[in-house]
Amino acid sequence: MKEACLLLVAFVFGLAAVDVRAEPDPHSYAEPDIVAVRALDLELDVDFARQQLSGTAMLTLDWRDPLAHSLVLDTRDLAIESIQGVAADGTTVDLAYTQDPRDPIFGSALRIDTKTAVPNVRIRYHTSPQASGLQWMTPAQTASGKQPFMFSQSQAIHARSWVPLQDTPSVRFTYTAHVTAPKALRVVMSADNDIAHALDGDYRFRMQQPIPSYLLAISVGELDVRSTGPRTAVFAEPSVVAKAAKEFEDTEAMIAAAEKLYGAYRWERYDILVLPASFPFGGMENPRVTFATPTVIAGDKSLVGLIAHELAHSWSGNLVTNANAQHMWLNEGFTSYVENRIVEAVYGKQEADMQLVVSAQELHTEMQGMKAREQLLVTNLEGIDPDEGLSGVPYDKGSWFLRFLESRYGRDAFDPFLRAYFDHFAFHSITTPDFLRYYSENLEGKFPGKVSSADIDAWLHQPGIPSFAPIPHSARFDAVDKAAADFLAGKLAARKLPARHWVTYEWLRFLNALPEKPSIAQMQALDKAWKLTGTGNGEIAFRWYVATVRAGYTQARPEIAAFIERIGRRKLVVPIYSELAKSEDGKAFAIAVYKKAKPGYHPMTQASVEKALGL
Ligand SMILES: [Zn+2]
Repeated sequence: MKEACLLLVAFVFGLAAVDVRAEPDPHSYAEPDIVAVRALDLELDVDFARQQLSGTAMLTLDWRDPLAHSLVLDTRDLAIESIQGVAADGTTVDLAYTQDPRDPIFGSALRIDTKTAVPNVRIRYHTSPQASGLQWMTPAQTASGKQPFMFSQSQAIHARSWVPLQDTPSVRFTYTAHVTAPKALRVVMSADNDIAHALDGDYRFRMQQPIPSYLLAISVGELDVRSTGPRTAVFAEPSVVAKAAKEFEDTEAMIAAAEKLYGAYRWERYDILVLPASFPFGGMENPRVTFATPTVIAGDKSLVGLIAHELAHSWSGNLVTNANAQHMWLNEGFTSYVENRIVEAVYGKQEADMQLVVSAQELHTEMQGMKAREQLLVTNLEGIDPDEGLSGVPYDKGSWFLRFLESRYGRDAFDPFLRAYFDHFAFHSITTPDFLRYYSENLEGKFPGKVSSADIDAWLHQPGIPSFAPIPHSARFDAVDKAAADFLAGKLAARKLPARHWVTYEWLRFLNALPEKPSIAQMQALDKAWKLTGTGNGEIAFRWYVATVRAGYTQARPEIAAFIERIGRRKLVVPIYSELAKSEDGKAFAIAVYKKAKPGYHPMTQASVEKALGL
């Protein structure tokens, strides 16, 4: 039955059948070995007053067991109104269904008795205002303050909170959508956005490349658009769009650099949607339109590595997809590796090296507080919320593993291998064993003796970073390290630091060199000389604020409050809350700020902050 599916994919995309072996997804109730969704047609109305999407989802089914007549879908907090089977000639029949009790992590399985192997099922439903994958914002929570805003975040398993579907990355489908929304607002989806579309409240979309459910995305708001290249544009709130377009003007150069390394960009357009600051992530690689936090608009392009990262997902993740979250390093490790290659090609090796050194250092620090099993690249996430295990391991250890392979085989062999890997598994969802089979045939087999199976095992299945890992080095950091050492030894005044021309990563290196508990005098001197409290650079800000809390430098508190009230990106705010929670006085301050910030936070950020504060 696996062959039936492979033939279908091969037929539609002209690809040769590939050897991909199924593995159950611990985070989905779906049974794709019995029946798989291969197309989705949405009809949705966006209702801001009710904070609700309502309409229908029509699923086109590929029955792998023709005698089966049970379709199990994932849902979370969806109100199902009716379900019909739709025959090839369009005739409909009402179907019986049950919805399981709600599991706090996985939601409710929707079990539909289709009576026969019907080709289509149409589900009428509406979402809950608490849908975990949608954030509904009042006008006051946006930059302009005039219109409401809504956006989705489907990864890891939140698509099920706004569409009933098989919410597992092992299933891929194409989709269309007809969306109605208040006039004057623009609707953007992970599909063929028309940047010249009239603001008439009536939008139609088509995504013809098959995607996994976590790449389903929608946003509705007062969105302006600026073209930045032949296939790139920026969507953002009117007051942000010009700044964003300037910051992201190198996007076409990044696409060209990635194509040179890994082959043609297969998704036609690459647009960027800049969301309000409450977006819980740095970026989300929704196909054709990356969703991004405004906190990467530093004014000097120093944080556009994030765009390189989301763009890299167009190959690793969106094109070749981890079949379930236990193999997440296949998405994030490959992407972090490709990201660094794009940064190197567009901004030079110095910049790329600095980013590698900081991520290696921070991974080491992070791992010190982790259990051994959490440090493995291939994990067992049975019964575990995939949002919970998020750490630097799949990203930074994963990419380090690939850099290790690159160092042993050399770029002359490794680059063509990676390019061929993306072509071979294009539009498939795979596991680590699938990767390893391909690797042993196409790299190890061709260049034997360079890497042992014990080496591979150490990277994939042992905690920590192997002792034989290549150590990244940045010559520019040597100067920063010397300045930091002299400053901490009292030999160099804060205002004499050679920091006038430091780029963001030089500052990150310096802040990471501060001791566990800097003195208040040191913090004061740094702040006076370099105005770090209140910085507009989010990456510098959160590291600085954590250091101020450790030092007991409470003068920074008003700006900390302003920062964490304004921004909802988890990476930037959760470490500050966690650090504050370590003292009684800090915790009381943090809880008071959180109470004010909470209405503006995304449900995911709320959950993370409440965990950090023990609420
Ligand atoms: Zn990523």
